[in-house]
Amino acid sequence: MATIGSVTRQIAALELNKKPTSSAGPPLHTKQPSQTNVAKLLSKYAAPLPPLSTQNTLAKPQKSTQKMRAPTTGSSNSNRKAATSSSSPAPEATQPGIDIGNYDGGLEIDNEKRGEKVSGEAATELALDSSSARQYPTRVWTLHDFDMGRPLGKGKFGRVYMVRTKAEPRYILALKTLYKSEIVAGRVEKQIRREIEIQQNLRHPNVLRLYGYFHDEKRIFLMLEFAGKGELYRQLAKYGCFSEKRSARYIDQMADALMYLHSKHVIHRDIKPENLLLGLNGELKIADFGWSVHAPGNRRRTMCGTLDYLPPEMVEGKEHGEKVDLWALGVLTYEFVVGNPPFEVRGHGGVDRTYTRIVKVDLRFPAALSPDVKDVIARLLRHEPQDRLPLSKVLQHPWIVKYRPKDCLRGRQVYE
Ligand code: AMP
Repeated sequence: MATIGSVTRQIAALELNKKPTSSAGPPLHTKQPSQTNVAKLLSKYAAPLPPLSTQNTLAKPQKSTQKMRAPTTGSSNSNRKAATSSSSPAPEATQPGIDIGNYDGGLEIDNEKRGEKVSGEAATELALDSSSARQYPTRVWTLHDFDMGRPLGKGKFGRVYMVRTKAEPRYILALKTLYKSEIVAGRVEKQIRREIEIQQNLRHPNVLRLYGYFHDEKRIFLMLEFAGKGELYRQLAKYGCFSEKRSARYIDQMADALMYLHSKHVIHRDIKPENLLLGLNGELKIADFGWSVHAPGNRRRTMCGTLDYLPPEMVEGKEHGEKVDLWALGVLTYEFVVGNPPFEVRGHGGVDRTYTRIVKVDLRFPAALSPDVKDVIARLLRHEPQDRLPLSKVLQHPWIVKYRPKDCLRGRQVYE
């Protein structure tokens, strides 16, 4: 069986991130595996680890990256982003001759209508190109390097498409657009730049990879790992809640990914089902490192949105650190097994009452839950950040260990 090390070396050999010897010649790669292998490797194992010397050098993101959900009125799951076509899985991506679907011309249409060219300091700030990145420069990419496929969804700053690189070994990726003028309108140029640079340096099987980025006059393009099974919250909306086994396996992957992020001094601060994607094998991928956080008007919505995943220290406006992610992990565990977040109060005055319940840690469990899952949740949802169960202990908790597959290589679990 292939070890992570050998797979890592195989992916390294794919040379996605290497500059070609000359702009006219083919990209440098020592090996050209089949599309089957590329898709499997991309989805299962993400990418090679950075050299040890650079693993702990990522900057801390700014503290203002929290995002809240839009207020919920009906069922908490059904009111999330409208369920459109974008979550359809792509099992064919593991077959040779992967079909990336039909392009609808949306990027050109959007480009005609949407956004202005930016100039001056903002233009310099947003001239983002991974080929000139300090840590891991990639080859030079442009829109012409991709065959465009089906739309995967629409984000706050632009559309996301399934694409394939024209150059061998023909990677399948998700290409995400961000309109520069909208970033400027939100005054978030610096944050966007920083977040892109941070995500490009993250390599973990349960953290969505950002392989590269480039820009044109109006847009920034992000070359993201393709999450073949789409958004996790759609699954939650479909099933209402998850079995304890499925939940435990997701939380296992989450805890591992968060431990990795924290080791790099990256605090996510916005863990919730909407920000989690699923790979082709159903493995969890933490996505969204904040660009949608900075959407214009987000702060105001924050004031009237639900507080569901916010810890007491953030609700109370106190200093906060990486332990906010432990609280969110507790909320996520509860939402997975119960179907709604623990402190949610709907209807008139719901925001204030949710606030009070969070600060008091007013936690109530439905009777049907196992003692083990209640124990994990209760140990994560502690008012004092230092009292929360550390991630290393989450990974050793009986509820997690009980459901972990015997031959577990994290990120490979199959759920459907
Ligand atoms: P976002 O701007 O991140 O909210 O993305 C908009 C939509 O595009 C999401 O709701 C997903 O359905 C889809 N999407 C975004 N990124 C990916 C990805 N890496 N793989 C598959 N689908 C994605």
